[in-house]
Amino acid sequence: MRCAILADIHANLAAFEAVLGDIERKGGVDELWCLGDIVGYGPDPCRCIELLREYNPVCVVGNHDHATIGKIELSYFNPYAAAACQWTAGQLSQDDVAYLEGLPLTVEKGEFLLAHGSPADPVMEYVMSTGIAAKNFDFFQSKYCLVGHTHVPAAFKEEKGTCLSVNLSPGIGMVLGASRMIINPGGVGQPRDGDPRASYVIYDSEGRVFRLYRIPYDISATQDKMMEAGLPIHLITRLEVGR
Ligand code: ZN
Repeated sequence: MRCAILADIHANLAAFEAVLGDIERKGGVDELWCLGDIVGYGPDPCRCIELLREYNPVCVVGNHDHATIGKIELSYFNPYAAAACQWTAGQLSQDDVAYLEGLPLTVEKGEFLLAHGSPADPVMEYVMSTGIAAKNFDFFQSKYCLVGHTHVPAAFKEEKGTCLSVNLSPGIGMVLGASRMIINPGGVGQPRDGDPRASYVIYDSEGRVFRLYRIPYDISATQDKMMEAGLPIHLITRLEVGR
């Protein structure tokens, strides 16, 4: 079984389409797993929800998805993110809202638990250090956990009671072994590791291989639409630096 793992699309249609095109070029996948934050920040929330749903994905909810439909107070967000959430809320159809409302906090798929933030706090917590990852291994039963939210590709493994960071480099396969792991495929629509290209993973269950890909997309097309929509300039410029 081949599976594409995507996180943090953030209404960036150009980035999302570039990733989907890349998946097709690589022969397609059997399943698409999405780790939340379909909307927020970007200019195409409705089209991104619609396109994602065409793939019948396994999908969990993210903090921006929740904020957009009023399940999280916007006061938890910085002013830019809050403004984008408010704008997004005005764009969504009733059907879009119903879809986001129906998304679960976590999903278990075979050996994997899927969550947006962390297994301990599926919507809000960022797993961005070995310290935070270490405590999170106690919060899921499955062997592996997939998270998004930081927009930074990362992998952590638990070995002999300690937690180690594992390098996840583009194009180089990582074979799942005996150790439990927490893995982040990076962000599709707003990467934050200094590489502005969209980030995603293909998992092949046959060789148990995880492979990270970075895909260039038309950043200026997304920026132009954000400008037209009147979204905050800070959110527009950060796309080209990937921070
Ligand atoms: Zn996000």
